[in-house]
Amino acid sequence: MKRYYFIVGILIIGWLLPQVVGAQGEAPRNPLWYEPKIKHYLAHMSWSEVQELLKGSDMAIIPVGSIEQHGPQLPLGTDILDALELALLVAQQTEVVVAPALWVGYSEHHMGFPGTLTLSTDTLQQVLFEVAQSLIRHGFKKIMLLNRHGGNNTAVNIAIQRINHETEATAAEISGLRLPEGTELPEAPQIDWHAGVGETSFMLYLTPSLVDMSQARPPVLTLPADALTLSQIAKDNPNLNRLFSSSVFLPKATGKKASSREMSKTGVFTTGNPADATAEMGKMEVEGYVKAAVKFIEDWKKAEKE
Ligand SMILES: [Zn+2]
Repeated sequence: MKRYYFIVGILIIGWLLPQVVGAQGEAPRNPLWYEPKIKHYLAHMSWSEVQELLKGSDMAIIPVGSIEQHGPQLPLGTDILDALELALLVAQQTEVVVAPALWVGYSEHHMGFPGTLTLSTDTLQQVLFEVAQSLIRHGFKKIMLLNRHGGNNTAVNIAIQRINHETEATAAEISGLRLPEGTELPEAPQIDWHAGVGETSFMLYLTPSLVDMSQARPPVLTLPADALTLSQIAKDNPNLNRLFSSSVFLPKATGKKASSREMSKTGVFTTGNPADATAEMGKMEVEGYVKAAVKFIEDWKKAEKE
């Protein structure tokens, strides 16, 4: 019997000891924080690290995206997370700081889906310009906007023009860079505008824990009749494509039945099936883009020295 108590005693001490020592040895910690410190990410850096970086580089990337519906399978933050992650991947390979300005973009046409946030184009361009001005005051002279949401194009163009015309810095948009020759890209469905196969593949590679593939399915599209007619005519007359793009993704308040909720029940816009998305396809595109952007930055540095 004594031996029995002895063994039970040893077992209890053996169980308790590590708990007590562990509790004393480790500082309490936010159970949700698992992000490592990322190199060249302004939000993670200290001011002294920025000062050090500025001795060798005057380049900054401002990622621009949106918080807007991206179908039932992708997070609302898709566009901004995508822009941020791409910028950070680029910044691991070259001396450039990634300066996040804001999460929200112009998404009035997606407001029919819960959770979508929107700023006016005017507010957006003003915030982007003022963030650039802050960077410029610290000595950054080459500002790149990496915009991953089409609704922001006008605001981004205005901000870039203002930086170039009103400050000593130079600014350019860098999302649509031509990919390096020989870059292999996956085959895309004929239409793959929003939350489709391409974007789902991108996010399966960039932020896999946020994608719910059990929700991925092809959409039923209900584009307005005149937009469909235009898209048909545009097949033989490509100039009419610009009219087509002017007649879809419009605010509901216009009454043109062309807001995203009126054109797709799920908010997905593709002629393919988002369930066909794969992380491998996403990786191909991401790696092609990162290569192109790193080369662009290196070439810009070289051009300045010549
Ligand atoms: Zn998107």
